Amino acid sequence: MKNLAPIELWYVTGSQHLYGEVALKQVAENSRKIVEALNASGRVSVKIVHKPVMTGPAEIRNLVMQANSTPECGGLILWMHTFSPSKMWIGGLTQLNKPFLHLATQFNRDLPWDTIDMDFMNLNQAAHGDREAGFIHTRLRLGRKVVVGHWSDTKVQDRIDTWARAARAWHDLQGAKLARYGDNMREVAVTEGDKVAAEIRFGLSVNGFGVGDLVKLCNEVSDTAIDKQCQEYMDLYDVVADLRKSGSRHQSLKDAARYELGFRAHLEGGNFKALTTTFEDLHGLNQLPGFACQRLMADGYGFGGEGDWKTSALVRAVKVMAHGKPGGVSFMEDYTYHIDPANPQVLGSHMLEICPSIAKGKPKVEIHALGIGGTSDPVRLVFDAPAGRATNVTLVDLGNRFRLLVNEVEAVDVPPMPKLPVARTVWKCLPDFQTAVAAWIYAGGAHHTAFSYAVGTEHMEDFAEIAGVELAIIDGNTDVREFRQTLRTNEVYYHLSQGFSNA
Ligand code: MN
Repeated sequence: MKNLAPIELWYVTGSQHLYGEVALKQVAENSRKIVEALNASGRVSVKIVHKPVMTGPAEIRNLVMQANSTPECGGLILWMHTFSPSKMWIGGLTQLNKPFLHLATQFNRDLPWDTIDMDFMNLNQAAHGDREAGFIHTRLRLGRKVVVGHWSDTKVQDRIDTWARAARAWHDLQGAKLARYGDNMREVAVTEGDKVAAEIRFGLSVNGFGVGDLVKLCNEVSDTAIDKQCQEYMDLYDVVADLRKSGSRHQSLKDAARYELGFRAHLEGGNFKALTTTFEDLHGLNQLPGFACQRLMADGYGFGGEGDWKTSALVRAVKVMAHGKPGGVSFMEDYTYHIDPANPQVLGSHMLEICPSIAKGKPKVEIHALGIGGTSDPVRLVFDAPAGRATNVTLVDLGNRFRLLVNEVEAVDVPPMPKLPVARTVWKCLPDFQTAVAAWIYAGGAHHTAFSYAVGTEHMEDFAEIAGVELAIIDGNTDVREFRQTLRTNEVYYHLSQGFSNA
């Protein structure tokens, strides 16, 4: 994946001096065994690093300062092996600027009923140590994830991984750069937003670039590089006869390759992680660069159409969360409805830019006319997305804050659509079409989303908690009345909790 930095999580165990050196050695040993087991499980996608047992406030402060200033540290996993008086955590935790997970576990899974004595009781105090830790986290109003269960349980390991993926997406956004080629589609509201607030809240900067800068780089691409690129398309995809080397429209494929390489030169030169384009600003490009955007998304770049930088940033974040998992992630648009009362569905697509990471089978490279954009016919990848559980996520700018909105959906087999020359997916909304669409509209959700088979609601919950933003969820249990009341309550809560930062 392009531009993805390695990260690690620090496993920090809480204790105190009361139990004596022998007990503390045992605590450290047990803690090390848990870290080894989690790393060996193959279920946690980020490396976990064992840190010394914490027994006092100065140590904790020092550790937090190290975590804050270690670029590859993506967050902490805190475990209270014994009772660790939590006043000693205040100084450190109030300074911590990385996310943390509280793992409520115990070294022994089962109690040794026949042999249990006071030594055992002293050593295994997570049950009340967790309450002491939890109180101070809550008292300090710290966002975190609490995972409960034995560390050997695969469900526990999977929940740690879910959080680790969210923490990685967060880590990836800090200092990330998004290139916006051209501005917003004229008069469109939902793709607009406060870029200063976004940088304060999410850590990524969004800056505009003239399409002329790109065109210059496109024009500098060599014929050799273009031919090599076209060969890659031949190897990866089913390229229609017209676009092949001997075909009558091969020049269009060469133009598409030129754009892809020109975009890459700009994005790599500026170390960008995401981009937007707009069909209203294409000066010097003789076809819409949708194919280039599809190819870039497949490499992990975030993308949003029509200047939609919020969705582009979100696509990048979801792609980082999904990294290494089966399924895929794409920019998506709720395009058109199949509104049969007995079987309502949504056809998701875009005029060109759907990511081939969600393709079922080998995508086709085709060329067709497109009324939008006023340029010559654009090349594009055409494919169906598979059936399966998926998640649609959007990021809304409400003026005083951001809201993440999730809808769990069930993608179905795509029916044949021989005349539709774009990549597509078809889904059913949970809990049902009427509820989901009404709730989405009440929440102010956009038509653009990050659509994913690999990332679920819990990933987004963890990400929202880390970012400190509202998350509204439309799932199998959603009731419109309750959902609307939650939105109203959230208006008050976020207004108070975020004060004047307005981000
Ligand atoms: Mn669109």
